Amino acid sequence: MASIRLESLRKSFGAAEAVCGVDLEIRDREMMVLVGPSGCGKSTLLRLIAGLEEASSGRIFIGDEDVTARPAAERGLSMVFQSYALYPHKTAGENMGFALKVAGRPAAEVAGRVAEAAEILGLNGLLARKPKELSGGQRQRVAIGRAIVREPRAFLFDEPLSNLDAALRAQTRVEIARLRRRLAATMVYVTHDQVEAMTLADRIAVLSGGKMEQLGPPLELYENPANLFVATFLGSPQMNILPCAAAGEKRVKLAGGFEAETARAIAADGIQNVARLGVRPEHVGLADSGGIPGAVMVAERLGADTFLHVDLESGGSVAVRAPADCSANPGDLARLRFAPERLHLFDDNGKTLTRNRTE
Ligand code: ATP
Repeated sequence: MASIRLESLRKSFGAAEAVCGVDLEIRDREMMVLVGPSGCGKSTLLRLIAGLEEASSGRIFIGDEDVTARPAAERGLSMVFQSYALYPHKTAGENMGFALKVAGRPAAEVAGRVAEAAEILGLNGLLARKPKELSGGQRQRVAIGRAIVREPRAFLFDEPLSNLDAALRAQTRVEIARLRRRLAATMVYVTHDQVEAMTLADRIAVLSGGKMEQLGPPLELYENPANLFVATFLGSPQMNILPCAAAGEKRVKLAGGFEAETARAIAADGIQNVARLGVRPEHVGLADSGGIPGAVMVAERLGADTFLHVDLESGGSVAVRAPADCSANPGDLARLRFAPERLHLFDDNGKTLTRNRTE
């Protein structure tokens, strides 16, 4: 296995810049997830690492070797695509062993490595089937098996779960996490799905507009987002954002003259230009009196949790994660209290002004 290092990496398509100068070090045996909305450049970044796109400028290292000018076949990486890209007329076993066969490896070695990968992936008994005789999840496992048998320096995954239905996606996500523990391999995983990013990554790189917004372990990003973009991208339902202004040493003023308490002293800490408050649904409580009043519009009862969507009297809507047995119904009055130690404050540009917990 190997580390991967990107230095000032850029990629333009004509006048449009898809990757705008990314510096990133992926550690040996690390699972790095590149996440961001459609068009943020994550697939282009992965294709640059794979050697399927040529960098406009910057450098790519695998281990200590500068591979920027090397063709894909010489980089020693295996890529798993969203579309599986299996040969339809070959069996699962033939698909998995094909690259080794083409590379001239002895038949016994190919058979051995395919059998080993099949065992890891639970594909025993399915190796003689053609792709059309396999389910979507099984096809994806064959595609992963094909990557494993090549014993690459790192694995690259491009949205591998996107073609699966929700239940299978959740199951395959756990399988990938297990596989990851077993292979102890360097992996770069691209997804637009923040749940995949949160659950699979050692570290997440959040991308937007071809730039890296923030890099760090999942919970560090969740609890201390650097800006409004990361704050609202990670988490479901997403972080509630309301306009506000500083109102006192530990208070911010919301629309309608309501106030919320902050754990941090604003002026004493040199916090300026407070423009928006952010609070996650799990950090909003229901109060019997006082609080910020609103009306419950929707109550989503998920079994383990109930999510209330509350329209504030002063404007704006707030999602609240309430206990499963919460009896609130649409039309009921709700009084909201935001946990002061869990408030995020942002300036006009969306930059985070307060950092939580780890400080
Ligand atoms: P998605 O999740 O939709 O695949 P993405 O985050 O992976 O999106 P990219 O596919 O990397 O985004 O694309 C980044 C930007 O580069 C987009 O604006 C896209 O239109 C553009 N782009 C990507 N490939 C090409 C290409 N071959 N020619 C021209 N523009 C391209």
